[in-house]
Amino acid sequence: MYNTDSRAFILAIVEKYRSTDMSVNATKMLSEADGYNLLRQFNVPAPTFEIVQSPDDAAKAATKIGYPVVMKIVSPQIIHKSDAGGVVVGIKTDAEAKDAFNKIVSSVKKYNADAEIKGIIVEEMAKPGLELIIGGKIDPAFGRVLTFGLGGTLVEFFKDVGIRLLPCRDEEIRSLIHQIRGYTLIKGYRGEAPKDEEFLFQTLKNASAFFEKNENVVEFDINPLRLYEKGGCAVDARVIIQDEPVKIAEHYDPAKIVPLDYYKPRSVAVIGASDDKTKMGYAVFRNLLQFPGKVYPVNNKRDEIQGVKCYPTLGDIPGSVDMVVITVPAQLVPGIMGECGKKGVKMAVVITAGFKEMDADGRALENRMVEIAKNFGIRIVGPNCLGLILPPYKLDTTYVSTSPLPGDIAFISQSGAIVNAVVGISLSEGSEMGYSEVVSVGNQCDLDFLDYMSYAQRDPHTKSIILYVEEIKNGVAFMEMAKEITKTKPIVAIKAGSSKRGQAAAASHTGSLSGSFDVYMEAFRKCGVVPVKTIPGAFQVAKALGNLKKPITGRRAVVITNAGGFAVLSNDYAETWGIEIIDLPKTLIDELNTFLPPFWNKNNPIDLLGDATEARFRGVFDVLCRNEELWDMAILVNFPNKVLAPDRVAQILIDTSKKTDKLLVGTFVGGDCLKPGVNLLKEHNIPVFEELEFTYRALGHLSWTADR
Ligand code: ADP
Ligand code: MG
Repeated sequence: MYNTDSRAFILAIVEKYRSTDMSVNATKMLSEADGYNLLRQFNVPAPTFEIVQSPDDAAKAATKIGYPVVMKIVSPQIIHKSDAGGVVVGIKTDAEAKDAFNKIVSSVKKYNADAEIKGIIVEEMAKPGLELIIGGKIDPAFGRVLTFGLGGTLVEFFKDVGIRLLPCRDEEIRSLIHQIRGYTLIKGYRGEAPKDEEFLFQTLKNASAFFEKNENVVEFDINPLRLYEKGGCAVDARVIIQDEPVKIAEHYDPAKIVPLDYYKPRSVAVIGASDDKTKMGYAVFRNLLQFPGKVYPVNNKRDEIQGVKCYPTLGDIPGSVDMVVITVPAQLVPGIMGECGKKGVKMAVVITAGFKEMDADGRALENRMVEIAKNFGIRIVGPNCLGLILPPYKLDTTYVSTSPLPGDIAFISQSGAIVNAVVGISLSEGSEMGYSEVVSVGNQCDLDFLDYMSYAQRDPHTKSIILYVEEIKNGVAFMEMAKEITKTKPIVAIKAGSSKRGQAAAASHTGSLSGSFDVYMEAFRKCGVVPVKTIPGAFQVAKALGNLKKPITGRRAVVITNAGGFAVLSNDYAETWGIEIIDLPKTLIDELNTFLPPFWNKNNPIDLLGDATEARFRGVFDVLCRNEELWDMAILVNFPNKVLAPDRVAQILIDTSKKTDKLLVGTFVGGDCLKPGVNLLKEHNIPVFEELEFTYRALGHLSWTADR
């Protein structure tokens, strides 16, 4: 339907509403008639209507349209027409139409004497149907968001909506329809005939196209869209446009990504290195002493720092310097950046605070520093950050109290404090945590989330990536990159806060129905990032995902246990975390019956009873491996018992993992006596938990990527 005529139509509407004052990019709401006409260009059905200026014309229009009709006020000042007495429904005769005209005009005048009455719209009365809402809004970071859910006047009460980021695929629209609780009503509740789901799907697609092609539309909602057994109809449309096309955040630009050799300096200098233990420059230099390349302290008041010859300025260092770490006060940093340029430095880690995050002067200082660095081609980490740690290369530019161990997790954080915490935790007793990259991103004046993620993607040491996110500015580019990375390495994210930025002035239902946190969650789903709530959860999920042989195929689980109580709890936890414990098909039960004792429960969780032998377990796993298409994950739940030692149980899972690529998970609940089994599974990179709820919580998070 959309063609060049539609394009001309859209542009004409924008011109019609353009502000006289060209200096402001004002937003305004289209009249219902213009909204309907615009939606029609995209095949979103709206009632037939006519706008009239007198009671007689109202009757004529109504006769032409066909009774019954609805009449409503047309006035730019009246946003909620019913509130102003501006809507009359169920008009059946010429006399009633004339009456309604006069009634609406007088009510509206009483409601708001200044309201400019542009006429009365007479429209076809749509029959009752299931009332839904379709809306759209712009997220400042991620762009166009489509909203769908139960509509009508109770929309804010139900809050039964889902969202998709545009553009989106057909399957995403279908899953959006299925995900709301109200889908039951669409399918036909309690003997009612099902509604026209195909029509709804098409209308959502059309509404998405309408939103994407109308670059001036900032927000819209169709509430209600009435859905019938066959077809449907929009009976109200709010469309808010602005004078200028909406600018959506930038795309990912591979040219901006930092080459890997920038992260592999041969020599590092610390500007502001110190012998004074209370200074940042002390800890930073001390952490750098383990670096196998050259390290130089720079300080014009000393000859030697921490036993190493000190230089008064960067220029005095005899050899070349690839990286500097800057800890001196902010005012000095632009000058130092100039010295770095002359010295041929490639990368500057600016730990110093007091830039953009502080005030206007700080912002100006930051801009100057960036400009100088750009001229020399220097790339900047920070400022206002903890710094960067690459444990496999023994490069620690931070002031953490002890450097983390090398390992396979990249941890990229918007908070320096959280970096300190996770490094501390990873060094605690019993932790086997190690890192390939640890970075606190700071103000991201140059290098940002994308750069550090890109490093992790290319770094051979990294198996999985954890992000601690407060706000992502370039959401579109983030998603493009994350989508690429998650094809080979999992990304797990903790998203903090749920800012209302950019949504305060929502004039439509759509604006208030979903917050920015929901948009992040949807963005994560779309690009395969796994959201988690806690730091320990992030590590468990990142570890488990990093060791997966293949992506998770779905949420269908089989639970095998010798602990009946845990079978019951499994059902509870699985329900909470969205894991589907499947019903075993008869053929599978028949196969199990051939070797299991007659009193087994013939159900899932498969309870092999407290005296379960190794042969019983192995038999079940063999049957599961032969019927791999039935399930996505198998969970073995074990407890301390005399029949079967924990390492024997672990060995069953290890042997099974050689026969299937499906996800196998151990859960050993019972404390230290089960450690031999737990440790054996860890050695073989099979996810294992010591608390049943963790298992299901983690699986719920892991399966997230299978939903796309
Ligand atoms: P408001 O500005 O108050 O939201 P609406 O245009 O939504 O005004 O009209 C109020 C209500 O009147 C709608 O929610 C719907 O129930 C009913 N209504 C409006 N237009 C029609 C129509 N063309 N056919 C049937 N019902 C309608
Ligand atoms: Mg309405």
